[in-house]
Amino acid sequence: MRIILLGAAGSGKGTQGQLIERHYGFPRISTGDLLRLEVQKGTELGKMVEEIMKAGQLVADELVLEVVKARLQAQDCRSGYVLDGYPRTLNQALLLEQLDRSRPETVLEIQISEEAVLKRLAGRRVCAQCGAVYNNEPGTELQCQACGGKLIIRSDDRPEVIRERFRIYRETVGPLLAHYSRKQVLFPVDGDRTVEEVFEAIKLILDSRISGHQEN
Ligand code: AMP
Repeated sequence: MRIILLGAAGSGKGTQGQLIERHYGFPRISTGDLLRLEVQKGTELGKMVEEIMKAGQLVADELVLEVVKARLQAQDCRSGYVLDGYPRTLNQALLLEQLDRSRPETVLEIQISEEAVLKRLAGRRVCAQCGAVYNNEPGTELQCQACGGKLIIRSDDRPEVIRERFRIYRETVGPLLAHYSRKQVLFPVDGDRTVEEVFEAIKLILDSRISGHQEN
């Protein structure tokens, strides 16, 4: 099963992706994390995408495809994976389908308002080492509970950049939603609830999708 998480920055994709990974064993693949790693390592690709990412703009499809392609070839993706932040455009969705053709898909669109996003991201910290996401009150957590790495604020989590990312999401998601809705694999999820409540709703959808595909 390929699980695709759609939703604006701050909708809870990362957190829910981690929970899905833990519960179902599908690895979570975040293109944002993969690209940030390239920037951190100072690779050619990293240098090309750094400024675009800081401004909250979308990285060119061919560049994101490079990191996705490499990651999907790994052994742990054989029975399935959760994509967090990919695809973000219809073209990326089509490229993904070419890359990995026959896999059944479930697309979860986590819906949330811009106001809720702004409030949430003010408290978001991420681990500089492993990318784990924390949604705590500012200043309460300093270290990652998973790996002990330092918790930092992402450079694109400033209010003006958050607004820009929300605008881009709204602008680009329409054709993606239409595409997945036509394929009958799109499931909306109300993201303006507690993490646990959202995950319960996601589990209901995924359990029925997974058992449906096992029967076929
Ligand atoms: P995220 O961690 O998913 O919020 O992504 C952070 C940033 O990485 C985005 O604002 C984009 O600049 C870039 N990025 C991540 N995934 C993609 C994608 N699928 N297409 C284009 N840019 C992306």
